[in-house]
Amino acid sequence: MDRRDFLKISAKSSSALLAGAALGCTTIPRASRGESVIVVGAGMAGLAAARELEAAGYRVTVLEGSRRIGGRIYTSRDLGLPVELGASRIHGIKNNPLVPLLKETGVGYLEVDWDSLTGFETDGTPMDDEELSMVRNRILGMFRRAFFRNIGNTEDFPIEDIIQREFQRRKFTPQERRVFYFGITSAEMVNASPFTEASWKYALDYEAYPGGDHFVVNGYDSVPDKLATGLDIKTGVAVTGVEYGSGRVKVHTEEGTLRADRVIVTVSLGVLKAGQIDFSPSLPWAKEAAIDRIGMGLINKIALRFPEIFWPAKVHALAHGTDVRGQYPVFVNVARYTGEPVLTAYVPGTYEDGLEGMPDKEAIGGAVDVLRRMYGSSVPDPVNAVRTRWGGYPFTRGAFTFNKVGATGRDRETLAEPVADRLFFAGEATSRKRFGTVSGAYLSGIRAAQEVMTIPAPLMT
Ligand SMILES: Cc1cc2nc3c(=O)[nH]c(=O)nc-3n(C[C@H](O)[C@H](O)[C@H](O)COP(=O)(O)OP(=O)(O)OC[C@H]3O[C@@H](n4cnc5c(N)ncnc54)[C@H](O)[C@@H]3O)c2cc1C
Repeated sequence: MDRRDFLKISAKSSSALLAGAALGCTTIPRASRGESVIVVGAGMAGLAAARELEAAGYRVTVLEGSRRIGGRIYTSRDLGLPVELGASRIHGIKNNPLVPLLKETGVGYLEVDWDSLTGFETDGTPMDDEELSMVRNRILGMFRRAFFRNIGNTEDFPIEDIIQREFQRRKFTPQERRVFYFGITSAEMVNASPFTEASWKYALDYEAYPGGDHFVVNGYDSVPDKLATGLDIKTGVAVTGVEYGSGRVKVHTEEGTLRADRVIVTVSLGVLKAGQIDFSPSLPWAKEAAIDRIGMGLINKIALRFPEIFWPAKVHALAHGTDVRGQYPVFVNVARYTGEPVLTAYVPGTYEDGLEGMPDKEAIGGAVDVLRRMYGSSVPDPVNAVRTRWGGYPFTRGAFTFNKVGATGRDRETLAEPVADRLFFAGEATSRKRFGTVSGAYLSGIRAAQEVMTIPAPLMT
């Protein structure tokens, strides 16, 4: 299923986004060339902001806490080929500002065929295509009914309420329930949103570009690498505090204090929620409330390299229908895109806390056990495996954001608002329509750079 597919009930206009995509080539007034700007974070938002400002004559320094750039674009080569442990898909290739960057950097992408799944239930019974498509239609029907039932209802509630209502409405056979769980968990995973917390009211706020989902094949990290060319980036320098009260902004790091005229903060919502950067004065109340209310979701990946391909080589993914909701529900077939014997298991945060606390052997062993249940005991041990723990990773603290019950779409705009004309914010969480994506992060960086260029710097006292 396409990203947010289950939630796409009505067609939406993408004109606002087309306007956003054009931001990169707009002529805008330059407030003060030669000013210094510190950008915190070298993910897509930070790199986009830094490039825009550098090109406009600003003196830009990027401070990156980890030892690598790219943030949640994270390509591992430990399995002998580029495997994406963070972002891996382009959500629509028409009018998407990432596409020119992908072409420029030679990053290939192939269309994802969401209907191309092969499924097994946990006892090894194959799920047939009819069953999968029946459950997909049933889930879509369930959301459609909920949409019409709730027209005019201003109250928000978690998406899980709709699912539980469906369980009360009709009797599921155990087999149907397992396939239904697979469908629901897949939807939770692609949105990194636990449905017990995800907002029904704001579920449709997200918009994808037209042109279908595409899978990146030969190293997404070439994109941030290209954006970083020629920029002054200091890696391994974690920012611990930002003092922006008066005069030049002071940015405190474990390596000492730097000063600049303005600062753009692009760290993840998870890092802001954890209070890892001490802002002085404190951030405005409304911004702190927005940080609190917006949800930071979790998914993890385990990429497994096998001695040979033992599964159908042409399908997009292997589906696992299980009685335990969220238990290794999907293995993306990397072989379809690369020809290499690699599968990537996706694990939602709703299952065993995304396996965050589980030792590698157990987490990887769990994935192999499920594959053995699906394909038989002859499934070999993997020759190598890599896994993520995005929740515990101190420079992200989660995978990406979702609209949570209690938050509104406006909260993302509040998060994006500049403070005292000195402190600016970017990052996927600040994008009302493209949150949780690389394109949203990229455009937010350009937006923040333009704010720096158009909002006059405060007079220094
Ligand atoms: C598992 C997973 C799968 C995903 N799948 C997709 C997908 O298929 N398609 C898609 O479009 N998007 C996907 N995303 C989301 C996408 O990766 C992000 O939305 C996007 O990369 C975020 O970019 P950003 O610049 O906002 O933040 P980040 O990439 O998080 O950049 C912020 C940077 O700040 C640094 N930092 C943090 N704290 C500090 C500090 N104190 N001091 C200095 N530096 C600091 C971090 O190290 C990081 O480099 C996925 C994400 C994950 C985790």
